[in-house]
Amino acid sequence: MALPLTLYDNYARSLRRFQPLKAGEVGLYTCGPTVYDYQHIGNFRTFLFEDLLKRVLEWNGYRVRHIMNITDVGHLTSDADTGEDKMEKGARRTGKSAWEIAKLYTESFLEDMHALRIEDPTILSRATDHIPEQIAFIADIEKNGFTYRTSDGIYFDTSKQPDYGYLARLDKAGLEAGRRVDVGEKKHATDFALWKFSPPGEKRQMEWDSPWGVGFPGWHIECSAMAQRYLGDYFDIHCGGEDHIPVHHTNEIAQTEARVGTRLANFWMHGYFLLQSDAKMAKSAGEFLRLKSLIDRGYDPLAYRYLCLTAHYRSQLNFTWDALDSAAIALERMRKGFYALPGGGAGDGGYLERFTGEINDDLNLPRALALAWELLRGDVVDLRVAKTTLTAFDRVFGLGLAEWQPREEAIPEAVQALAAARSAARAAKQWAEADRLRSELHGVGRWKIVPTATR
Ligand code: AMP
Ligand code: ZN
Repeated sequence: MALPLTLYDNYARSLRRFQPLKAGEVGLYTCGPTVYDYQHIGNFRTFLFEDLLKRVLEWNGYRVRHIMNITDVGHLTSDADTGEDKMEKGARRTGKSAWEIAKLYTESFLEDMHALRIEDPTILSRATDHIPEQIAFIADIEKNGFTYRTSDGIYFDTSKQPDYGYLARLDKAGLEAGRRVDVGEKKHATDFALWKFSPPGEKRQMEWDSPWGVGFPGWHIECSAMAQRYLGDYFDIHCGGEDHIPVHHTNEIAQTEARVGTRLANFWMHGYFLLQSDAKMAKSAGEFLRLKSLIDRGYDPLAYRYLCLTAHYRSQLNFTWDALDSAAIALERMRKGFYALPGGGAGDGGYLERFTGEINDDLNLPRALALAWELLRGDVVDLRVAKTTLTAFDRVFGLGLAEWQPREEAIPEAVQALAAARSAARAAKQWAEADRLRSELHGVGRWKIVPTATR
């Protein structure tokens, strides 16, 4: 398709024309879940944005090599490299081992992901399966002179990199001058851990030998290491939620720059937060909504997918039950409208091009949805053509329109008994009785008697 694809790159802070580094193929790395607890629907807003990005890239004819990590070690409760490992804390909370909770919450994440029709990544890679890669990465950074040792670990010296923090436009001098939190033995407020030692006299559930001592990797190194292993030194697009801009992605860039001199990815894209009552939705806040919370209230998981389609990924979205209700109603209408259309036409070139124009304009899904509604009105193009065109749109929406079937409602037994009695009365030519049974049947509700000939 000839229309150019434009994406917002947070590194450049501008819209840029997307062109893959390798013809026909896109390398995509998305930061995955930290599996110390269930994922909340806010997390899934980011995963949905990434799924839509991937589908838009595929729509443009690219093969996407998508790597997603599972953070199952090293993500501390504070981004400032203090506090506990979230996995060990989660293990204590649940009374299970860190390994058990990693398995449990990874499985639950995948289940929800599939319920939302999020496509599987090409490779799903666990941090704990890539410890040697992370150690080799740190060793190279050390060799290049970017590290120092404290009593609790090996740290990255951010002062060695003049452009450290560029992604977030960090005010390094301001951070340094105003450091209010105790940074311990760290030399600078922005320095971060590459390898943490197991606390003296304590055996952690997850720990490994390393050239620096027994311990575990810092959170950021896993992404630099796995991205490099599966996508090389420099690849096309790196994504995550907006909270990753100032710390996690900033540090991933620093590490990769220190090891190989590239800034990891050509495009840096971020999904903006889902808010609840205007506050950040966070697992650490304790109370949060899971996909299951929506299902338990009778919602189809895809109503949440639809809701996310109605807002642009670069603006925050306030979650309300009213908004979810509207999304559920719209989805139901769209499914029924689509189902009622006759198939067998060709796609409409004009609409397909307009659709490409919208999604290639930095993933403008809200406007792409509006085009779908135009087609469903039924008077703009031939109905057969509308169905084929919408089927194509749904490759990006991912709502599974073509698979949807109206639910067959079971006919209550009482209604079946009345219908049988009426048939018997008619067979016996007891017309008055048959009529009476018919009005009784009508009285029970929606069960209208359709004349046999037109059934
Ligand atoms: P985590 O499991 O905390 O590592 O987060 C998984 C993904 O969800 C990351 O890309 C986060 O940036 C993202 N995320 C976290 N909270 C939210 C939220 N409230 N809305 C949207 N994305 C979020
Ligand atoms: Zn990451």
